[in-house]
Amino acid sequence: MKTKGLTIPFDIIVVGSGAAGLYAALCLPSHYRVGIITKDTLKTGASDWAQGGIAAAIAPEDSPQFHKEDTLNAGAGLCDESAVQFLVNHAGTAIESLVEMGVAFDRKGKQLAMTLEAAHSHPRVLHAADTTGRAIVSTLTEKVLQRPNIEVIAQAIALQLWIDPNKQCCQGLSVLYQGQIHWIQASAVILATGGGGQVYSQTTNPAVSTGDGVALAWRAGAMVRDLEFFSISPHRFNPTRGAPFSDQ
Ligand SMILES: Cc1cc2nc3c(=O)[nH]c(=O)nc-3n(C[C@H](O)[C@H](O)[C@H](O)COP(=O)(O)OP(=O)(O)OC[C@H]3O[C@@H](n4cnc5c(N)ncnc54)[C@H](O)[C@@H]3O)c2cc1C
Repeated sequence: MKTKGLTIPFDIIVVGSGAAGLYAALCLPSHYRVGIITKDTLKTGASDWAQGGIAAAIAPEDSPQFHKEDTLNAGAGLCDESAVQFLVNHAGTAIESLVEMGVAFDRKGKQLAMTLEAAHSHPRVLHAADTTGRAIVSTLTEKVLQRPNIEVIAQAIALQLWIDPNKQCCQGLSVLYQGQIHWIQASAVILATGGGGQVYSQTTNPAVSTGDGVALAWRAGAMVRDLEFFSISPHRFNPTRGAPFSDQ
């Protein structure tokens, strides 16, 4: 991690190195100079703890329409339908891309194994033993570290978005790194800072889940909504394993 690197403008800064941040960085064209800012080590986030699995309607007898109906039913009228539609439309290709990158989801014979869980009407939950998140994050991390256009700046805390007062657009951000505040220039900033469970007295979220991305965006003038649904995970803590585990 070179402090020197922080003075050169980036094309894009991604804040957060969970599944969302790593995947976003890998989806960007390789001619962009990309920086991933993460406030602890690369693998410290909720993604590494996710165990139960990841849903996608990819079985031949299943369909995105069934996935959508199940999600809307489970949401009891509270879902944002366009977000659900986006999710079910893109879940299949996202899984395909993870498999291509090498994520070792469990298999039944040659086919991906899928379980029937929770409110799903079809078996569509893919998993890698009971460490699905870890399998995804490990593969994505490996890919990120192989990409010469991506620089990882670890133990750096994003503090504030840098708004151009004339154009009212984001031109970078400030970061606390090695005891100093640095202003990093970037044409775009992607906030992938995960959940905010730590703002509650009881949570299964890791210590880094303090809702920073929402606070950064809000302080920069963004409208925030549906905060009561902000990263809630129905899991309990298993003290013998030192990490939470799924009830499912
Ligand atoms: C115990 C548990 C079990 C779960 N099980 C499942 C499951 O089975 N299936 C499922 O779909 N979901 C599950 N979830 C939910 C799932 O893990 C999360 O929704 C998902 O991992 C979020 O990914 P993310 O990349 O957005 O956030 P995270 O993985 O939390 O990553 C956030 C990143 O942002 C960084 N960061 C935060 N603030 C700053 C800052 N100011 N500056 C720099 N970096 C910052 C953090 O260090 C971290 O790298 C579970 C969650 C928990 C806690």
